[in-house]
Amino acid sequence: MRRTVARMAPIRSASTLAASSMPGSVTPSVASSSSSSSSSFNKPRNNRFILAAAVIGAGALGAWSALRESADAAAPETGLNPKEFRPFTLAKRLHYNHNTDLFMFELADPSATLDLPVSSFVLTKFKGADGKDVIKPYTPISQHERGMLSLLVKKYPEGKMSQHIHSLKPGDKLEIKGPLPKLQYKANMKREIGMVAGGTGITPMLQVIEEALTDPTDRTTIKLLFANTSSRDILLKERIDALALRNPDRLKVTYLIDKPERDWNGPVGFVSKELLKKTMPPPCPVSLVYVCGPPPMMNLVSGPKAKDYSQGEVGGLLKELGYEQESVFKF
Ligand SMILES: Cc1cc2nc3c(=O)[nH]c(=O)nc-3n(C[C@H](O)[C@H](O)[C@H](O)COP(=O)(O)OP(=O)(O)OC[C@H]3O[C@@H](n4cnc5c(N)ncnc54)[C@H](O)[C@@H]3O)c2cc1C
Repeated sequence: MRRTVARMAPIRSASTLAASSMPGSVTPSVASSSSSSSSSFNKPRNNRFILAAAVIGAGALGAWSALRESADAAAPETGLNPKEFRPFTLAKRLHYNHNTDLFMFELADPSATLDLPVSSFVLTKFKGADGKDVIKPYTPISQHERGMLSLLVKKYPEGKMSQHIHSLKPGDKLEIKGPLPKLQYKANMKREIGMVAGGTGITPMLQVIEEALTDPTDRTTIKLLFANTSSRDILLKERIDALALRNPDRLKVTYLIDKPERDWNGPVGFVSKELLKKTMPPPCPVSLVYVCGPPPMMNLVSGPKAKDYSQGEVGGLLKELGYEQESVFKF
């Protein structure tokens, strides 16, 4: 079902930044009204009136519910299904940087928007050369764009899925299933959220950041530590910087680079205890640290997820700094 929370306009998407002109959207709010009672409430004549009004009201409520249900039933179809893979046609691909492209797939109904639960991801599938299915998770970055499911995909030299997606041309299809929920984000569920992201690990973080910052009732502050090899590897920087600029009291971003260029003046190296202490909320029940990145970074920062993809124990630097299980979430 589509969400009906009033939201502030989201920052323009990566596809917009990369030259598309699809509009962002604002989900309309449902206004509610209340009636005041009269001082002669207990008079029988008025009670009949109230009963009549209640009957009419109940009818109206029923009609409103029916209308709402039919509106939901008639909500434009994305074509996504969490139970089965369905083919989506690549409409457009845009060059993003030296190893990453933006892949824009058509939704079933061009007027539909994804509006996925936050946070959630999709699975993509194709049959490898050995006849076996290759299945990998990706986080769409086009929550509110009409008619599009956009994936920002980094190509790895030996990467099965990323090489496959990068081989696609407009008109080709990719099997996609979803959305599949992760930890549900609720406004104000924590006072502070820390995020340690590496490379493409930024995409699930961005989903949460945009959700939190576009909800006018949300007061959560977010501290993002975003680690990359070099500054040219930083994905979605324009979008993140724009969000930080618009929300200086709620989003603080630290970029960390492993192989700095000469003009880089931010921190350098891998994620360390000192940097986590400086940039993350301290371990406490009102804060949460999300971690998402390549396996070596996960091992270093939070320890890996368990073999069955459950959270597993907290390990790595976060454990050494005293973070408990309930204060860490591994994507
Ligand atoms: C919740 C979630 C959301 C994700 N969202 C995105 C997204 O939006 N965009 C995106 O590009 N990727 C995303 N990923 C990563 C993606 O699922 C794949 O792991 C990645 O594309 C590599 O898959 P592959 O089949 O190409 O590589 P594989 O064949 O699995 O591996 C090839 C080589 O790449 C290395 N490798 C594998 N995964 C990674 C990684 N994540 N970082 C660095 N090296 C790696 C392996 O060690 C190996 O050497 C997400 C992962 C998760 C868990």
